[in-house]
Amino acid sequence: MRAVLPKSPTVSDHFDIVILGGGLNGAALASALKNGPHSIALVEPHPPSPPGAEATWDSRIYAYSPGNVEWLQSLGAWRDPVRAQAVYAMKIHGDASGRLSFDAIDAGLSELAWIAENGRLQSALWQTLAGQPNVRIIQAPASAVTWDAGTNPRHRLHLANGDSITADLLIGADGAQSWLRTQAGIGFDEEDYKHIGVVANFETEKPHRGSAFQWFRADGVLAYLPLPGNRISMVWSTPPEHAAELQALPPGELARRATEAGKGVLGHLRCITPAAGFPLKRRRAHEWVRPGLVLIGDAAHTVHPLAGQGVNLGFRDSRLLAEVLASGGNPGEIGRLSAYAARRMEDVASMQFTTGSLKKLFAREDSLTRAMRNWGMSLANQIQPVNQALTRHAVL
Ligand SMILES: Cc1cc2nc3c(=O)[nH]c(=O)nc-3n(C[C@H](O)[C@H](O)[C@H](O)COP(=O)(O)OP(=O)(O)OC[C@H]3O[C@@H](n4cnc5c(N)ncnc54)[C@H](O)[C@@H]3O)c2cc1C
Repeated sequence: MRAVLPKSPTVSDHFDIVILGGGLNGAALASALKNGPHSIALVEPHPPSPPGAEATWDSRIYAYSPGNVEWLQSLGAWRDPVRAQAVYAMKIHGDASGRLSFDAIDAGLSELAWIAENGRLQSALWQTLAGQPNVRIIQAPASAVTWDAGTNPRHRLHLANGDSITADLLIGADGAQSWLRTQAGIGFDEEDYKHIGVVANFETEKPHRGSAFQWFRADGVLAYLPLPGNRISMVWSTPPEHAAELQALPPGELARRATEAGKGVLGHLRCITPAAGFPLKRRRAHEWVRPGLVLIGDAAHTVHPLAGQGVNLGFRDSRLLAEVLASGGNPGEIGRLSAYAARRMEDVASMQFTTGSLKKLFAREDSLTRAMRNWGMSLANQIQPVNQALTRHAVL
């Protein structure tokens, strides 16, 4: 009788650090650790697709702070295929006469922010990992399916492709619905903003000259973010019924509504990517670190996009975590992970508080609140030190 051969062996490897999720935050952290003392695995079931044709624009477009762009440059990721537009001015309109504007020149800065596509930046980050001897990318279909939290080595992950890997430090960069957070039984606070972020891109009739615009309106918050050329990305954070209506409109009618809501500041708009909608929630995981485990980016916290800060907070997680891990040694040691979490707390808490409060302030319909919020905006605009302090906080 023939012997039954064992199944072909699967990969069983140990890494000092395993990062789950290769979105912007996971890929940026892997890139920041690529020249460090640890062996790294990046596990991602959906690697970025190659950049599309010149005329194709990603519907997920974000604002990046100059501080984070400088960091991405140092990683070698702020380059082709990224297409970026600098923001030189921001014009914010209240729902009455309130106005607040920020200007890079007034604040002594070369720009206030940069706007770029999610997909192209993710591709550029992945390119920085190619050929790095201490980084292994484990791609589709490699999503983590089971996790044993052991002691030595601390974690064993069984992947959907049959591989089994172990790690001293497991990092959850697996997004707002984090699988790792759920597996670890880490709870989270959640507040439903009762807004959907409706996004679409448009060609503009008039040049935007690097200006971003935002309107606090009775139906939510509308933003125009400048893209290279005569193009903008729209983010309209609005209640679900209105969002569903906007998403169902034919492109011409959507462009007409977006033009009208933006008071025609850039002339007529022409829709170049269809509308997509993202439910908006504030979340904060109850724990960001445990021995041998860290949650970063949306897995740890999410904010309302009205200040364009979600991924910026995540990049600041990765910047600090990479710095803390650079000295080598056991990466899962809880003392330094706790120190990392303590240093990240204030930034995240203040951003969640600010964006949540602004959203609530502009949701109130009584006339006194309406007058006060518009007066407050104009006041902040007129007092130069206040205006400059707000600008400086946004560029970190
Ligand atoms: C409408 C809107 C506008 C926004 N605008 C801005 C802005 O202007 N500026 C800004 O800073 N932020 C903005 N944000 C926030 C930003 O989109 C997020 O903060 C950011 O994309 C989160 O990145 P991430 O890498 O943490 O998570 P994700 O992008 O969600 O990536 C998580 C990755 O993990 C992978 N994954 C999931 N499960 C597993 C598993 N079990 N194993 C392995 N991998 C797994 C997924 O495939 C995915 O690639 C906006 C958000 C919205 C909704």
